[in-house]
Amino acid sequence: MRATIAEAVVMPNTGNVAQLPTLRLKRNEDRRLLAGHLWVFSNEVDAAQTPLGRFAPGDLVRVLAHNDRGLGLAYVNPGSLICARLLETWTIPDTAWFAARFRRALEWRERLYEAPYYRLIHGEADGLPGLVVDRFGATCVVQIGTAGMEAQRQRIEEALLGVSGIDSILLKNDGGGRELEGLPAYVEAAGAPVAELASVVEDGLRYSTQLRDGQKTGWYFDQSANRRTLRKYIRPGMRVLDVFSYVGAWGVSAARAGAGDVLCVDSSARALELAVENAKRNGFALRTRKGDAFEVLDQLAAEREKFDLIIVDPPAFAKRRKDLPKAQAAYRRLNQAAIRLLDAGGLLVSCSCSHHLSADQLQEAIAKAARASARHLQILETGGQGPDHPVHPAIPETRYLKAHFCRVDEALP
Ligand code: SAH
Repeated sequence: MRATIAEAVVMPNTGNVAQLPTLRLKRNEDRRLLAGHLWVFSNEVDAAQTPLGRFAPGDLVRVLAHNDRGLGLAYVNPGSLICARLLETWTIPDTAWFAARFRRALEWRERLYEAPYYRLIHGEADGLPGLVVDRFGATCVVQIGTAGMEAQRQRIEEALLGVSGIDSILLKNDGGGRELEGLPAYVEAAGAPVAELASVVEDGLRYSTQLRDGQKTGWYFDQSANRRTLRKYIRPGMRVLDVFSYVGAWGVSAARAGAGDVLCVDSSARALELAVENAKRNGFALRTRKGDAFEVLDQLAAEREKFDLIIVDPPAFAKRRKDLPKAQAAYRRLNQAAIRLLDAGGLLVSCSCSHHLSADQLQEAIAKAARASARHLQILETGGQGPDHPVHPAIPETRYLKAHFCRVDEALP
């Protein structure tokens, strides 16, 4: 007979696990977790029975529903709004535990990708809340976002360096969310020395990118499937504008698909230098313009430049929910500025990586931009993050990237 969920999830009260302290939830606050979500918010904890102040950041606990039902092991951070994250286990993590999760993640990526360049661990969706690992061949860039994962750093390093084919790690722990967890910013290497420039092979194209000084982990693997989609819209000779180009991944893909002229825009001079090198390395040329994207788009309009295809792939404008109204206005302005530079029948690839801004809200911003420009806009297709950035089905926050592929024509007569 098949066990029901209630029967399957029993709390072991033997061994080391029984010695862990408990974190008890208030009545009914177990519902989201029973549906598979992994986060506990501080207002859901029964603070009378298990005060959060008892715990140190990163401590392991057994999470119990109000009726004592066991929900799983979690790590806690009493100082964070998300005060505990479940690890989907009843085993206390050691190096072998991490190695098993890495193996599981790796097996699937190896089947999917010809070359070892991908996101290896995508946090919650790979059973490792608060941990991101991007793979650049033998080097992994690790980003730890929570006190609970920080406490496991040693085991993570050991397990990762134990994976065959991986010999060096760059811990790039200088990202935004860390101060919310009370964590210091630092960048450190482990294993073999890590060079400043790393290679990436994407869809047969070779790139160099910066690791230590680059954006995020150094490469936007999440857009790789969308860059492949881009290729089918390119016709020989097209004039392409890649806004927020970073090291030119979109622009070089467009060149390879036959674009005649590619202009990359970014505020980082170093990123643009690498974009030029990356184009050259693959046998293409591209132009660059350094500056604030909004200002450059205005300059290009003043110069009466026109394009056949424009990609806008900005950094997240809405990093927090309360930024949303301002961010929506910024997405609208940005798309409007891009639409103005498109010739009739041109294409707009409009992206957002803010999980607070839904695909529908981005669509709304694009619709407003088209209306204000008196252009006829059609959304042809919408892409998301690639399969190396899986979505946890119970955690909507793990789906964050959208790329609307749009055709922009003159107003209908
Ligand atoms: N399209 C890139 C990723 C973009 S990341 C890819 O697929 O690889 C965001 C980029 O925007 C970074 O390179 C950053 O330097 C740049 N940037 C941030 N703010 C900017 C601004 N106001 N104007 C122009 N570029 C900006």
